[in-house]
Amino acid sequence: MPEFANESVSAIESSLNDVDRALERLRNGTYRTCQVCQTPIEESVLVASPLLANCPAHPELA
Ligand SMILES: [Zn+2]
Repeated sequence: MPEFANESVSAIESSLNDVDRALERLRNGTYRTCQVCQTPIEESVLVASPLLANCPAHPELA
């Protein structure tokens, strides 16, 4: 694999992990719940950012 592709691979794998975690949250019923403060996340926020794991007060991905 070309050296320059390493960063792209990391970014893609990171995105895949985010998708996996979002699917897992859908399965276990915590998709709309902030992973930090357990507050339900606004539906409009999730429509704009479907992979979001946390409410806008805790923007870092879990
Ligand atoms: Zn929160």
